[in-house]
Amino acid sequence: MRKATAEGLVCAECRSESVIQIEMKLPDGTEAIFNSCHVCEARWWNRGGESVAVDGIIDLVSE
Ligand SMILES: [Zn+2]
Repeated sequence: MRKATAEGLVCAECRSESVIQIEMKLPDGTEAIFNSCHVCEARWWNRGGESVAVDGIIDLVSE
């Protein structure tokens, strides 16, 4: 079981460490982590230890 950690987390866009993480539970019962960069406002998700495009999560939520 992999554990999400904010340690060493950097923004893929600007390499800033000012990234916040919010754990969310999706309608299908899986957990995803919403990541948001304070510096460049990049947003992305992690699900099962993998990065997911924002569009991919929206598809899941709208199902
Ligand atoms: Zn950034």
